[in-house]
Amino acid sequence: MKERLYLFDTTLRDGAQTNGVDFTLADKVAIAQMLDAFGLDYIEGGYPGANPTDTQLFSEPRKLDARFTAFGMTRRPGRSLSNDPGIAALLVAEADAICFVAKAWDYHVRVALETTPEENLASIRDSVRAAKARGREVLVDCEHFFDGYKASADYALACARAAYEEGARWVVLCDTNGGTLPHEVEAIVGEVAKKIPGDHIGIHAHNDTEQAVANSLAAVRAGARQIQGTINGLGERCGNANLVSIIPTLKLKPEFAEKFEIGISDAKLKNLAHLSHTLDEMLNRAPDRHAPYVGISAFATKAGIHASAIVKEPATYEHVDPETVGNRRRLLVSDQSGRSNLLAELERIGIAVEKEDPRLVRLLDEVKEREALGYAYEAADASFELLARRTLGAVPDYFNVERFDVNVEQRYNAVGKRVTVSMAVVKVKVGNETLISAAEGDGPVHALDLALRKDLGKYQQYIEGLELSDYRVRILNAGTEAVTRVLIESQDETGERWTTVGVSSNIIDASFQALMDSIVYKLVRSGAPA
Ligand SMILES: [Zn+2]
Repeated sequence: MKERLYLFDTTLRDGAQTNGVDFTLADKVAIAQMLDAFGLDYIEGGYPGANPTDTQLFSEPRKLDARFTAFGMTRRPGRSLSNDPGIAALLVAEADAICFVAKAWDYHVRVALETTPEENLASIRDSVRAAKARGREVLVDCEHFFDGYKASADYALACARAAYEEGARWVVLCDTNGGTLPHEVEAIVGEVAKKIPGDHIGIHAHNDTEQAVANSLAAVRAGARQIQGTINGLGERCGNANLVSIIPTLKLKPEFAEKFEIGISDAKLKNLAHLSHTLDEMLNRAPDRHAPYVGISAFATKAGIHASAIVKEPATYEHVDPETVGNRRRLLVSDQSGRSNLLAELERIGIAVEKEDPRLVRLLDEVKEREALGYAYEAADASFELLARRTLGAVPDYFNVERFDVNVEQRYNAVGKRVTVSMAVVKVKVGNETLISAAEGDGPVHALDLALRKDLGKYQQYIEGLELSDYRVRILNAGTEAVTRVLIESQDETGERWTTVGVSSNIIDASFQALMDSIVYKLVRSGAPA
């Protein structure tokens, strides 16, 4: 029999503290449903009473399989329960569970709460009792627990025990400042587990020494059975423990997988990369290419000798099978690559070619030549695929841009403010039809993008869902002159993303190449007829 570990997601509460992250009510509802479908045990939605969004979020039942959890403070010192509006807002919240945050460091009790250690313990007990009387499952986050334990172990433990003995389902030990190291977490949780059963202990780690994941695992080793964290490690400062790294570690590493089970099935685990990228998309952030397990580079190999070994035996260079987490192996096509990389990559994108085919040599030379000019095919998978298809097979000439004109104008507007306006005009030939489109944009590339995609005649239906999601520019020194490299990331209505590249001494021309590749790639993928 395996022991059950519980996962508590606080993306919507602690994760919402991230700089630049601001969830609307609709975002929170959609994310809660996504997390629920993934199989998390607890979803902390927010802090009812603290802001209108969270109050509204908890104003009606959310019908989730996960326990939907409201967060708030324990009773204020020196007040009665009935005289504390914060507690009142929590008790009426439509939530399955209430997570109270309580001080567990005597120094904070004195300085921040300005109260006595005894009154703080009474506040913990009263709050737990009141929430239980309302039929809620109760969690108590012991804030600054590890720093508090180092300063005064007896008092930190007294706080944890007050919560447990009053009937809190979980006593959560928080590394609020995020400075505790894994061996300290393991030792301290081990001591706590002598007083409170481990299946009532949770861990809430912050990532200030980049060890929030390690600290969470150390706590489990010492007996804790609930892990709190966020998707993609969202959270203030350096973030919270990243559930996207913790979950596959628990599922795939024998030390944990053989002892514990979690609520996420093997089938659901395959959605991990998608879940991680979808949240990034909702927040309009570019996914971290180097994110463990789910990043585009997590299973990417560049060097030729490694690549040929990977083709023969993938396990030689991979710590887990990328498919288990919904990722895939990437053999980078680059100036270091040999024929085995190229063959493996072509096979993956579905281009059949004989090992001895002379066009293979031509493609390899072409890639090397273009990379010397500044093209980056390992970053631009879609441009590579088009280059390969053009060299080895055929990419239809769907349309032809006969000319374009991009114009940047700076002038005073009607209210006397200086504004910069860009406009693009594009003349495209599709079959026998000539189409002229114009568009205004925030900048010249934006205007060009809009004008190009405005009217492609019979192909328009295939690119309706196409949009530009990221645009990166670098100035390179290739040979004697500086050139501009543009990488464009696009996405479509299915959530698929691809990257294209353009290189030129002129930034508009480089952008044009990358935009064209993106449109043609989408037409190829959609099976648009020639
Ligand atoms: Zn926190």
